[in-house]
Amino acid sequence: MIYLDHAATTPIRQEILDTYNSLLKDFFANPSSLHRLGQETSHLLLKAREQIASLFKRKAEEVIFTSGATEANNLAIKGYALRYQNRGKHLITTKVEHPSVLRTFEQLESLGFECTYLNVDNEGKVNLDDLRNAIRNDTILVSIMAVNNEVGSINDVKEIARIVHTFPKAVFHSDTTQAIGKVNISYEDIDMFVLSAHKLNGLKGSGALIKRKHIDLFPLISGGGQEFNFRSGTNDLQKEVVLAKTVRLTLDEQKKHYSYVKELHDYLLESLSNNEDIVLNSPLDGSPYIVNFSFVNKKASVVVEALSKAGIMVSTISACSSKKTAHSYVLEAMGKSKQVYQNSLRVSFSHLNTKEEIDLFIKVLFETLKSIR
Ligand code: PMP
Repeated sequence: MIYLDHAATTPIRQEILDTYNSLLKDFFANPSSLHRLGQETSHLLLKAREQIASLFKRKAEEVIFTSGATEANNLAIKGYALRYQNRGKHLITTKVEHPSVLRTFEQLESLGFECTYLNVDNEGKVNLDDLRNAIRNDTILVSIMAVNNEVGSINDVKEIARIVHTFPKAVFHSDTTQAIGKVNISYEDIDMFVLSAHKLNGLKGSGALIKRKHIDLFPLISGGGQEFNFRSGTNDLQKEVVLAKTVRLTLDEQKKHYSYVKELHDYLLESLSNNEDIVLNSPLDGSPYIVNFSFVNKKASVVVEALSKAGIMVSTISACSSKKTAHSYVLEAMGKSKQVYQNSLRVSFSHLNTKEEIDLFIKVLFETLKSIR
């Protein structure tokens, strides 16, 4: 099996699983309990929070554990909009966000917020002048992803933050799910950002929202007040502790993995460039972890099926959208033709892939393209 769908999810790392299993046995107590066992787990939880915070130069009380990036995006956006709606009801995002951002914006629209969905250029990036023109005195939140999950385009987070912060009522939230541990971005400039463990060889159902201390949020889940009252429910201590380990290991290895994956990426691009059936959709300066291309006169679904039969796992469009729509709204927003946005394929790497795997992928891909001519 050749797995080239790491932007959808990643296999779990053995040492993460081992730590998780041993924690499950030894630290089952509720960290909110006042007895000794509870206090021991509570101490571990604090350590995990402090570790994640320090990796991003933040404070422990700025880390809110969630079930993943979907929940973290929902909490950041809805939580902020609902808390600060008295300051203004205008929100800005882009047309190419992950559904966990787009659907959240649509929900807020139905509650009376006014939302602007920025266009992107043909490389999938936000034009900063568009942002300058859209932002207003009653804008309270701007949400722009750092790295796009379908094509890998990287937005200029630093400059976006600078523009947003010239408006005192506005904060900048960024969906950083595909950036963390992969590409360098300036987290210090972002007011709220998110992470998801299963994209980093960690556990599914585990992630966090990191936000500035002074930011208050309307809680989406009320109850016992865990997670600083922003998100209630008994802490999943084991997941939260191994989330810290997952993020630490990933960030420690980011540089090394980046160089390795960039080589794989360049190698794949060179091979693809020889095939006239293929057009590249990913920008050359995007994340090397994601390569998106389309077939100029073939059906992507047929190609993906043939690859899958040969044991090669790739995506047509992102896993979160592929069951619902037959085309990529990201490529459509980038101004691509119907053939291109309906017939794209995403290869997403990790450090676990090899050049031999890329060779085999190319071989099967080219043979498939020939056979369905
Ligand atoms: N944002 C982006 C950019 C993603 O790629 C994903 C995962 N598909 C998410 C958010 C949602 O992450 P999770 O699976 O942790 O909810």
